Amino acid sequence: CGIVGYTGRRAATPILVRGLKRLEYRGYDSFGIATVGSAIEVYKKAGRIPDSGVVPVDLAGCTGIGHTRWATHGEPNEINAHPHVDCGGRIAVVHNGVIENYAELKRSLQERGHTFRSETDTEVIAHLIEERYDGDLLAAVNAVLPLLRGSYAILVIADDRQRVVAARDASPLVLGIGDDEVFAASDMTPLLEYTERVIFLEDGDVADLTPCRCTIYSGGRKVERPVELINWCL
Ligand code: GLU
Repeated sequence: CGIVGYTGRRAATPILVRGLKRLEYRGYDSFGIATVGSAIEVYKKAGRIPDSGVVPVDLAGCTGIGHTRWATHGEPNEINAHPHVDCGGRIAVVHNGVIENYAELKRSLQERGHTFRSETDTEVIAHLIEERYDGDLLAAVNAVLPLLRGSYAILVIADDRQRVVAARDASPLVLGIGDDEVFAASDMTPLLEYTERVIFLEDGDVADLTPCRCTIYSGGRKVERPVELINWCL
């Protein structure tokens, strides 16, 4: 399973699908992408990513997230494939890992009127962020992370067109820094055709990614993580 994210000046869809193809070796049973143009758009499917690296849709937008799933909660089908979106379609989330307390979080969200589409543990994250989102995605994600128990690498987009918020705890996440574009992925393989500059996030890190800026926080404070130069022949 793997995740990939992009925000920059190029169309996000082909970058996300190519990235997911490179992560396929980690295992998958389904895949999906979400982008934000004038609104969040989602495409997901059970099964393999096409060998061509091209999907039969062209989601609008230069910001997006993608996922290859290895199901832990809910069977591998299209509905349970990520990204997961909240009821209002303002938030989309991809997640690697397991939210151990998802059942109790889901019950209380349902009591507060949230309708769930999937059987995954992940979908609670989208609804929890939606409840706290008032235009500041970073603040909403920061408010939700303390509620989650388990392991996660997540990427979140909202109807804020040029931003991806990333967070990790006990699942890997790497950033790639380009010129006016930023990438995120479970490992370096999707990044290397675009940039040699990478940042390895640490457990507890939250990263606010916009095309020209990548700000990392830990324990609520801004932190500097080294930019490493990777020189790989692909
Ligand atoms: N626990 C999540 C699910 O079952 C994520 C699995 C994964 O890491 O691919 O959907």
